[in-house]
Order: sequence, then C-alpha cells, then structure tokens
Amino acid sequence: MNSVNFIQRLRDAIGDDSVFTTPDDIAPWLTDWRGLYRGHAQAVVRPRTTEAVSRVLALCQDARVPVVPRGGNTGLCGGATPDGASNNLVLSLDRMNAIRGIDTIANTLVAEAGCILGDLQRAAAEVNRLLPLSLAAEDSCQLGGNLATNAGGVNVVRYGMARELVLGLEAVLPGGEIWHGLRTLRKDNTGYDLKQLLIGSEGTLGVITAAALRLYAPTPVRQVVIAAVASPRQALALYELLFAECGPRMQAFEFFTGECVDLVAANVEGVRSPFAGRHPAYVLVELADTADEAGLNALLERVIEQAIERDLCADAVVSSSLAQIEAMWKLREEISEAQRADGLHLKHDVSLPIEAIPDFMVSAEARIRRVCPDVRPFIFGHFGDGNLHYNLSRPAGAPNDFMAQHGEPLTAEVLDEVAQYGGSISAEHGIGQLKRDYFAKYKAPLELRLMREIKQVFDPAGIMNPGKLL
Ligand SMILES: Cc1cc2nc3c(=O)[nH]c(=O)nc-3n(C[C@H](O)[C@H](O)[C@H](O)COP(=O)(O)OP(=O)(O)OC[C@H]3O[C@@H](n4cnc5c(N)ncnc54)[C@H](O)[C@@H]3O)c2cc1C
Repeated sequence: MNSVNFIQRLRDAIGDDSVFTTPDDIAPWLTDWRGLYRGHAQAVVRPRTTEAVSRVLALCQDARVPVVPRGGNTGLCGGATPDGASNNLVLSLDRMNAIRGIDTIANTLVAEAGCILGDLQRAAAEVNRLLPLSLAAEDSCQLGGNLATNAGGVNVVRYGMARELVLGLEAVLPGGEIWHGLRTLRKDNTGYDLKQLLIGSEGTLGVITAAALRLYAPTPVRQVVIAAVASPRQALALYELLFAECGPRMQAFEFFTGECVDLVAANVEGVRSPFAGRHPAYVLVELADTADEAGLNALLERVIEQAIERDLCADAVVSSSLAQIEAMWKLREEISEAQRADGLHLKHDVSLPIEAIPDFMVSAEARIRRVCPDVRPFIFGHFGDGNLHYNLSRPAGAPNDFMAQHGEPLTAEVLDEVAQYGGSISAEHGIGQLKRDYFAKYKAPLELRLMREIKQVFDPAGIMNPGKLL
C-alpha cells in the first residue's frame, strides 16, 4: 500500500482531525526533550479513544508501518522519538486524558494513558488520597509514558516504582486487539502477570491506553532534613539509622555531593546551601505521616541527635515551614537544570546494591580519572533506592562539545564498574535508543533471548517502536 492510501485509510478510520501530515504539524513530534535525537515520520495520529487506537494499530500491522507511541516526551533515552525510517507513525496519547473513576473505598484511580501525572496527583488529593508517583517532570509526563518506562522518582523508597502502583491495564496489541485487563483486584493469582510485561516495555509490545492505580492515605504531615556528611559511607550509615528508626515514614532519602551544590549556586538564581560552610556531600531526607505532627518532629529531632552523637553527620538543618521544605527540595531538584546550564554533559542513571555505593564511588572515580583526569563528576540521586545519577561534565575550559567527542570511553568505564558490582546500567530512565548497545552488552544472554521471544509473541510483525530497547 502506498503512503497516500495508508494516510487516507487512517483518516477514514479515526477522522481527519486526528491525523497530521504537514511538515509544520509533525515537526514537534520528531525530536526528544533534550534535542539529542531527530527522526522522520509520515504522520502523527492523536486518537481520542481506545477503539481508535485499535483501528490505527490494525492498519499499521496490515501495512507494516512502524508505530512510535508518544507520551509527554520527557523520556531521557530517545524512546519516543522515531528513527530515520520515512514511514514511521507517531501515535500520541495526549487526547486520551480522562479520569475514568476514583474509588475511595478500594483506593484506586482508573485513568487514561494521556493524563498528565501532576493532574492525577491533584485529582487524588481532591478526594483526600495520595498518588505517590512523583518526579521532577510530573507536570509534563503522562501516565502511559510513566508505565511504559516504569518510572521511579523520589518516593520509591517508600512506595516502590511505577509498576508497584499498578493493579490493572488496558492496552492495544499491534494487530488492534484490545486487552481489557483493567482490573482493580489486590489479589489475582491466575497465571502470568501480563501487565508487568507491558510495564517497562517502552512501547515495544503494545500501546497502554488506561491503567488502574493504587492510592494511599495522604501524608500531610511532612518534615525535611538536609544533613551534611563527610562521605558516601557516612550517608549509608545514616540511611541505616533512619530506616531502623523511622521505618515507613521515610518518604525520600536523596544524596548529592558538594560539587552539585556549588553548581546549583552558580547557575540557579536564589537557590543556596542552608549551611554556612561547605561539606563534601549531603543527604536530604523527607519523613511524612498521616497525622501527629508533634510525634514526627520529636522522632526526627531524636534521630538527628543520635546521628550527630554517633558521628554519622557533621551538621543538619531541619525544615520549619512548608516554604522551607520547598526551598530544601529545590536544592536537590535544580541539580539537573544547573548541569544543563553548565553545558553538555554525560548522564548515567545507574543502580547498585545500596551497600556497594561507597566503594563504587571510589573505584569509579579512579577509573574515569585515568581516562580524563580533569573530568568534573556531579553525583546525586535516590540513594535510598541504590540509584545514582553519575553525571560527568567537561573539564573546566574544554569546549562545550567535549563530551560528544570524548564521552564514550568515560561511559564504558562507569558502566563496566557498575557491572562489576552487580548493578544496573539503567535504574529508572529505561533503554530507548540511547542505551540499546550497552543493554545488549551487559544483559545476560538468557534474559535477552527470553525478551526477544516475548517481543515475537506480542509483536510478530515487528511494528512496535523498532530500534528501541532490543
Ligand atoms: C526534568 C526531568 C526529570 C526526570 N526525573 C525522573 C525521575 O526522577 N525518575 C524517572 O523515572 N524518570 C525521570 N525522568 C524521565 C521521564 O520523565 C520518565 O521516563 C517518564 O516516565 C516518561 O514519561 P513520558 O510521558 O514523558 O514518556 P515519553 O518520553 O513520551 O515516552 C517514553 C517511552 O514510553 C513509550 N510510551 C509512551 N507512552 C506510551 C503508551 N501509552 N503506551 C506504550 N508506550 C508508551 C514511548 O514510546 C517511549 O519509549 C525525568 C525527566 C525529566 C525531563
């Protein structure tokens, strides 16, 4: 079938106003958030219903047209950007943004894939419930993208990754079949858990059109502390103490180095360290509870006293207002922005067994400095989940494209070291196009083979997001 016929069949199937083909209309859909990738597409479709998605996929399979599902385009691995093939079809879920229901007895929320994550959090809050998935891109990313990438974020230490919040899914398979798996049961031990195959599949198995999510009790009582630590080993000891004393009230345990704080101070207006002096590293801990503010404050005070007595931190600043909580979080959340303002850099989103982080940081630094003695590491991340953003910036004075020219050997050193410690080369951002070759290198051959076989079962014609992941 030629392209003109294919486009006409799409228009007939889902309506003229859902199919876009002019270069101006489709240009914004051809690049990723960071501008690292640019691809081609013959059209962009923006269906409004699951049935319309089904008709699109049936036509695509029939005509062997590659389909690139697209959420909020905040993914950091180029997964939602089409490759160089001229016949790609970008399928955006942005018009499928209805909340189909919230149940405050079962504590579930059923929503379509195109809903913006922040809108879902606000909808849950309106009925006095918490949707705990939270990340810096939450006002742009979409539920479908969050599930297709199995997003993490800042609350994983308490509530788990995106996949742990999902009770059921609705999805369209490449031939157009609709899987009505939108169950809200807590217990369902009836064979393989198919929704978990689609979660984290980065658009390579089918299109997620809706999901049923778990909700939790809100935790309006919040306290944040930033503690200055001498080393990652001290941060680890502090984590152990806080986990033992605060248990599930620990909502976040973040880590960042002194270099990250210097970078934020230099590049982001109005954000500063809360300490008078400079320290090698910091942890930011958030405790949260459903009630009992006095109890939470007393607990935090007691634990920080213990930490200082046992020499687990040098100093600590505790929030005393919501405004302070926000200001303290800003110091952590602006690191990515500060690094972006500083120029092109290499991102490594890795995870490690948490107790290996201190040794990893020493040995990884030795490796990268052998390759490039003056490289500037900016290391931060969700320490409580064993997740580090091990980011590297060019040496001071080097040209902005230094990492584009010299980055590969540095990445090889970092990822080899991660593998030595039994870690993962992608903690929460996924694989996309960016890490596909590394994925093939570091994943066990048996796991790769099983994944290819699963892909073959779901998508025998190979139309779903080709060139991504596998
Ligand atoms: C400032 C910033 C901070 C971030 N912080 C975090 C963080 O803390 N934790 C974290 O995990 N990530 C983080 N990210 C990465 C990103 O926000 C997540 O990966 C997010 O889940 C992507 O959602 P999206 O809707 O933007 O997906 P997109 O970028 O549009 O797509 C991502 C992948 O999912 C596929 N996809 C999208 N929708 C569907 C669907 N409905 N069905 C099937 N496949 C689909 C795409 O084809 C692509 O492969 C951050 C990004 C930015 C820009």
